Amino acid sequence: MLPKQKPAILAPATPTKGLQFRLDLDGGFAWSNISIGEVNRRSFYVSRDGHRTRHLLTEWDTWLRDLCAKGVLIHNGQPVRVNGLAAAATFAPTREHRAVLQSRMQSARAVLKTYTLVHSPAVDERWSFAVTGGTRPYTVTAHPLWSEPPSCDCADATRRRSPWCKHSLAVLMSRPELRCQLLDILLENP
Ligand SMILES: [Zn+2]
Repeated sequence: MLPKQKPAILAPATPTKGLQFRLDLDGGFAWSNISIGEVNRRSFYVSRDGHRTRHLLTEWDTWLRDLCAKGVLIHNGQPVRVNGLAAAATFAPTREHRAVLQSRMQSARAVLKTYTLVHSPAVDERWSFAVTGGTRPYTVTAHPLWSEPPSCDCADATRRRSPWCKHSLAVLMSRPELRCQLLDILLENP
């Protein structure tokens, strides 16, 4: 069995002094060590393989995205992604994929209208929602830090082995803190 690839983590929203990254190039045959040095109100300084460069704070996302385009950016042993946009930028859904997405979103909107979503207290950075109003009650788990995809215990999610059932979509839609994670559905083939 292949080792399970670690899930991608969201890049830090802002640079802080001492942040460390590794950029894996050529499928991991070469790499670059990158660390963030001084950060002031306008700029952040980067030390990469002994070279120091200065960048504006407003360029943080662009800087990360450029690195993600060159190789696999690693932080704390996990691949980094930038708000899901680095991968999505080159992704063009087909007409069929769009139709599937649209019908799933419609089902999710129906869930939002007619079902009840009850948020239970968070357990170790997981949010749990009881979804009632369907054939039976379901439990959706979502991760506000976007460290893992959501999950649901309904038959549809289990059968398709996909986190994107109408219940998990409805939960993501219902909370502004989770809504950005809907981007992930673009990266999965229908
Ligand atoms: Zn479900």
